[in-house]
Amino acid sequence: MKDSKLSFETLALKSTEPFAGEVSPVSTPLYFSTTYHRNKDGSYDSGFVYSRTSNPNRLVLEKACAKLEGGHRGFAFASGMAGIEAVLKTLQTGEHIIIPDDAYFAVFKLIKEVFNRWGLSYTQVDMTELEQVENAINEKTKMIWLESPSNPMLKITDINAVTKIARDNNILVAVDNTWPTPVVQNPIKMGADIVVHSTTKYFGGHSDVLGGVVVINKNDKLEKHLEDIQNLGGGVLSPFDSWLTARGLQTLFLRVKAQSENAFKLAEFLNENSNIEKVFYPGLPSHKGHEVVKKQMHNGFGAMLSVTVKGGEQKAIEISNKLQLFTTATSLGGVESLIEHRKSVEGPESNTPDNLLRISVGLENIDDLIFDWQKALE
Ligand SMILES: *Cc1c(COP(=O)(O)O)cnc(C)c1O
Repeated sequence: MKDSKLSFETLALKSTEPFAGEVSPVSTPLYFSTTYHRNKDGSYDSGFVYSRTSNPNRLVLEKACAKLEGGHRGFAFASGMAGIEAVLKTLQTGEHIIIPDDAYFAVFKLIKEVFNRWGLSYTQVDMTELEQVENAINEKTKMIWLESPSNPMLKITDINAVTKIARDNNILVAVDNTWPTPVVQNPIKMGADIVVHSTTKYFGGHSDVLGGVVVINKNDKLEKHLEDIQNLGGGVLSPFDSWLTARGLQTLFLRVKAQSENAFKLAEFLNENSNIEKVFYPGLPSHKGHEVVKKQMHNGFGAMLSVTVKGGEQKAIEISNKLQLFTTATSLGGVESLIEHRKSVEGPESNTPDNLLRISVGLENIDDLIFDWQKALE
């Protein structure tokens, strides 16, 4: 139909249709469209139908994450917790999961408050002690949940050893790899079946986008389950958030490497300070898990550390408030350094020592960061 024959309302819609000509962008454009052209025979040229099912920006991110983790397929969700919930939903009523005694607090609460009501039982173990893992296995056990380094105690689990135990017992292993990121640690290459990330942290990297990604090794049944949970449950990452996260991913390697170097130097400094009771950082030779991390981490030991402060809870809070370059806020993995009194964040049910501060080391100059601590500890 000729444009001159169309009314204003119709033209307003027709004239904003996408470019028909050749456009060859270098950077992936944002695709907000929720729906896609369908051919007369019902097929779809692009493979895209509706954006709950898939979206180009989400697909770019999912494919990139699968590649970086050495996995078969990625699934992006609206938050790290939505991704973790999706993994837990692949289990069924009557089954059993083994989780670390210091699992990320929201993960523990999700299992305890929500999945337990649906008949998923769980056992908490100190996963650094392999015999505790073996003893917790029963005939209903279908998954082992693993976090290494753990939050906020930076405990190290031997991923190879746990995946071996799991394989011998036909159990899947899911690893929350948010803290180390695939720059530092690749659990799938060590035998894990599933890796989850809160991309809110290092992938996004700028504290401005919430998201989560699940990457799986080749496993048809698991893939089908996750595909259904993502598509039918609908807790997907939006196009804009996928775009921001994919943009963050492009600099992930450089950021994590530099932040880990900063964290290492800060850990060494704090380890020598008489006002600090203990530094929890796996890069320190004195750390209990140091020999294991030397085998399972590369490009540094991550950019997260915790310290306990001499003089108790009040002293710890006082010091965190004196720091000027470490913003007092929860979360981690952004370019800016953050500090938090973890017990206040976790609430009364928390097992975290009350004099513990958790630090996310950013990209500031390390001499400035150390000087800031020097002054705060004086
Ligand atoms: C932040 C975090 C989560 C939760 O992710 P959200 O994006 O906040 O939902 C899960 N695991 C770890 C280790 C985290 O740090």
